[in-house]
Amino acid sequence: MKLDAKVLRYMTPEDFRVLVAAEMGSKNHEVVPSSIISQIAKLRHGGSHKVLSELARRNLVAKVQHIKYDGYRLTYGGYDYLALRTFCQRNSVYSVGNQIGVGKESDIYIVANEEDRQMVLKIQRLGRTSFRTIKSKRDYLKNRKSASWMYMSKLAAEKEYAFMKVLHENGFPVPEPIDQSRHCIVMELIDAFPLRQIAEVADPGKLYSTLMNLIVKLASYGLIHGDFNEFNILIRENGDAVLIDFPQMVSIDHANAEYYFNRDVECIRVFFKRRFQYESLLYPKFKLDTERQFDLDVQVAASGFTKEKQQELEMFQEEEGQLAGELGEDANRRSDEDDDEEESEEESEEEGEEEEEEEENEGVQESKEVPVSIGKLS
Ligand code: ADP
Ligand code: MG
Repeated sequence: MKLDAKVLRYMTPEDFRVLVAAEMGSKNHEVVPSSIISQIAKLRHGGSHKVLSELARRNLVAKVQHIKYDGYRLTYGGYDYLALRTFCQRNSVYSVGNQIGVGKESDIYIVANEEDRQMVLKIQRLGRTSFRTIKSKRDYLKNRKSASWMYMSKLAAEKEYAFMKVLHENGFPVPEPIDQSRHCIVMELIDAFPLRQIAEVADPGKLYSTLMNLIVKLASYGLIHGDFNEFNILIRENGDAVLIDFPQMVSIDHANAEYYFNRDVECIRVFFKRRFQYESLLYPKFKLDTERQFDLDVQVAASGFTKEKQQELEMFQEEEGQLAGELGEDANRRSDEDDDEEESEEESEEEGEEEEEEEENEGVQESKEVPVSIGKLS
């Protein structure tokens, strides 16, 4: 969905009270009974009823007919506004500008604070593509009540923020993490293009070893990126690489660590061969090149993003990936096929990629919209 920041300006304190009540209620109810919402919001039934209808009209909650009772469910729209309001109250975000990316699992916006510092807002949208299918196919919620899109997206944002924080503190080339609330994070805007969009580099060999060294350095700090590809590596004008997108990071003690490590290495090898016709016999090997010296994975766990949360998120990601595989669409990993013009001869080698086009994340999109001030909220 599109984030319409203007809506936020027309939200009354009562609107937010009811929205917060719907959020709180949804911790225990998949569909929150209207009576519980009024109770939490401390509004008379008639009062909250009117507000709820209005919020439903604006798609911030959705009315659901439950077997036993009528109630409401918070929508992604409503969840977005709750997070935005928190950012406003903490003075981390003041205005919302253009959307610069649409991934299958996230939306990326430019935002600014009151001092006009531009930043990036990343909104996690887990389960956007396949959660409904998972739910109907496997009766997912019956066994794992907490596995809602809202909770999983929040876990993904918490995880990304926690990892970005320790990586940044330890001098890794990642954006500076600025704030996190619910399923959203705010981070430094990197003035760079995804490697995916770079047609030529001055010295492919140098960039290749920088990236391989980064994989090895991460491992020596106890971590594997898990999605180390041309979409998640930004290249600055001066050639420096910046790493983004961490919801799938794992510890090198993870049961499948070697698999993830090799997959990251392979992504870079394949990409460099295709894009820059660069191949090297030298590439890191898990058994030889990973020697733990620091324990950022332990630091992340200590920072509040616990092992349990990590496992919960992983279970969901695996399940979603599996199901996507069964359905023939890869929800977790984007195609490594390049649909650029210059690669047309390779396109025939792999089929069935066309349908991914519109959903693929192409980075910066042209847009003429001017940033909308969301103003101060209470
Ligand atoms: P997803 O999980 O959907 O892949 P990413 O974190 O990889 O989301 O971001 C998607 C795209 O948004 C990136 O490929 C990049 O073009 C842009 N982007 C994300 N974070 C930043 C940032 N901090 N600075 C600049 N561009 C960014
Ligand atoms: Mg990405």
